Amino acid sequence: MITKHVSTLSKVEFQTFIDSIDVVLSDCDGVLWKETEVIENSPETVNKLKQLGKKFFYITNNNTKTRSEFIKKCKDLKYDATIDEIVCTSFLAAMYLKEKKFDKKAYIVGTAGIANELNDEGIKHCGVGPDPMEGDEVDLVTNFKPDPEVGAVIVGFDKFFSFPKLVKAATYLQDPTVHFLGTNCDTERPSPNTNAFPGTGCFITTIESASNRKAVMLGKPEPFLSEYITKKYGLIPERTLMIGDNCKTDILLGKRCGFKTLLVLTGITTQGDVDAMNASNGGSKDVTIPDYYANELGDVLKMITSS
Ligand SMILES: [Mg+2]
Repeated sequence: MITKHVSTLSKVEFQTFIDSIDVVLSDCDGVLWKETEVIENSPETVNKLKQLGKKFFYITNNNTKTRSEFIKKCKDLKYDATIDEIVCTSFLAAMYLKEKKFDKKAYIVGTAGIANELNDEGIKHCGVGPDPMEGDEVDLVTNFKPDPEVGAVIVGFDKFFSFPKLVKAATYLQDPTVHFLGTNCDTERPSPNTNAFPGTGCFITTIESASNRKAVMLGKPEPFLSEYITKKYGLIPERTLMIGDNCKTDILLGKRCGFKTLLVLTGITTQGDVDAMNASNGGSKDVTIPDYYANELGDVLKMITSS
């Protein structure tokens, strides 16, 4: 298959597409906003979809905020969201441990976003904040006394990532009964310029390498998230649309779940990537090719208002 730009659909084709959807799951960064900047026309498009009776959910791999903090960000950027409409990976980490009836302590390589979601579930934790390297590395390894209460290592985005944190995480993970959770596999974040902006996946891979273990991944495109949202929202896959800017996470999740998929080019995936996909004739079995794509989410609004 090849992916089609939404603006190439006839009015009837577009209307059929819109009518076939009850629920919209949307990624956030790169679709609705870029870091702290709203993407033009996206709020109006979300509002229009809601006016048309579509249920709208915010599905983000971001792990640095709690759901409550996401609501605030949504409001600041003109999106009207409620807590039940938001699924972020800090929250999923808490849900995973809750499902396992976890009653020990989690060592977090990540931010307060994860810690606060664990607090809401009464799960103890440690590790958030700076843990800088001081002195000699052999002394560090020699003197580290593992906390016997730790029963899980959770890895998210950590701007304070350091050698001491790596030593501690890998030491805890020597015990095979210790849960190893990675919030999401994204190896890059949308960069404000041409410089590299490494993402959470880089920290997880490093700890996997040091511990010789594989993390259970929680975010898109992994089954934990799809099972959680499908169960929680009672989704009918063929009447659900997944929107995202990243083929490897958003679109792959949608394809795995049997959702319709729409890629927008305001984030990670570029027009060049789309051209390459279509030039390879869709690679026939490539499960990261979206059904449709658009330059921006606002293209959908244009199609709705012109039809
Ligand atoms: Mg994104």
